[in-house]
Amino acid sequence: MPTYTIRKDEIPKLVETLKEKYEVYGPVPRRTSHVFDKLDDVSKLDLDYDSTIMSPKKYLTPNRQVLMRVGLKETTLEDTANESTMDTPRILFGVHACDINGILFLDKVFGGKYQDVYYASNRENTTIVGLNCISPCKYGFCRSVDKNYVFEGYDLFLTEVSDTHYYVHVGTPKGDRIITYAPELFSETSIGDNDLFKTALRKKHENHPDELYLDYIHETLDMAWDDEIWDELGELCMNCGSCAMTCPTCYCFDVEDDVDLSLSTVERTRKWDTCLFHDFALVAGNHNFRGHPPSRLKYRFYHKFRAAIHDHGEIACTGCGRCIEACPAGISIKDVLHRLQDYWASSPTVTGG
Ligand code: SF4
Ligand code: SF4
Repeated sequence: MPTYTIRKDEIPKLVETLKEKYEVYGPVPRRTSHVFDKLDDVSKLDLDYDSTIMSPKKYLTPNRQVLMRVGLKETTLEDTANESTMDTPRILFGVHACDINGILFLDKVFGGKYQDVYYASNRENTTIVGLNCISPCKYGFCRSVDKNYVFEGYDLFLTEVSDTHYYVHVGTPKGDRIITYAPELFSETSIGDNDLFKTALRKKHENHPDELYLDYIHETLDMAWDDEIWDELGELCMNCGSCAMTCPTCYCFDVEDDVDLSLSTVERTRKWDTCLFHDFALVAGNHNFRGHPPSRLKYRFYHKFRAAIHDHGEIACTGCGRCIEACPAGISIKDVLHRLQDYWASSPTVTGG
């Protein structure tokens, strides 16, 4: 695939050009943080951002989605797929590697054995312009979970190589199309640009610490099933769900049927849900498979770092750090992993492993 450079000060012009054909979304400041939002005002785009409050999964699997509408009087079934998906193609501009990895994980979940038509349609209509992180974000630990880089999942990928330029990788034909819409903004790369790119990667490597040892996380969790850590953390956890809502790989949902007051229509809605909520595993007869708060927190860890490996071949964490920042109880997934790591290190069975 070809490579290009683009001047940083040409990015607003590029986005303006793309807005003629796409809805463009990117990171914009919101109070003390950033959010992904529609770029009605391109001057608000801030590519020098740390992280966003919510991950871009909200554009692929929205937090509320009408799945179907049934007319009770004439017994009609309305296809609502168009309401939940989009007609105009969309660009997510400036997505970090951790979040692209989050999207790749969701691709496996929603595009695996059971194809989710809503997700597939949103995904197909979305073009991703990725952005390399030369410096780590405040709470992130992406390198420790091998999610600080991407080989796929982006259409274009920008790497800051100097104060004035980005180095641009093209990942797919969709990315090629972007170049053709504004070819005057892109220059073919020279050997000097390649050298700058290599220097940027070296800097990135030096800047991102590799702090965790997760090779045996699966076995470690097996040994730690009865560890006191789960009760300890369970006591702190408020089961507010903030960690899961902000997480780029959490995908659980509930489905609700609502009848309107005139009893003429039923709407079936899918909405984000999480194993941290009390009623997540509540079933008929008031039986709750995880009624005790520590069991819910423990379940989240076992699902992310054990079950996900069985189901999707990888852990369900990109090290984005959002759950650490969002947790009102101060629970840090990184600290928990560190503690589990200590558990493994103190085990005699590690010798020769
Ligand atoms: S578990 Fe936490 S650090 Fe890992 S991907 Fe989810 S929000 Fe990010
Ligand atoms: S954000 Fe913290 S307190 Fe809230 S459910 Fe997650 S771990 Fe518990």
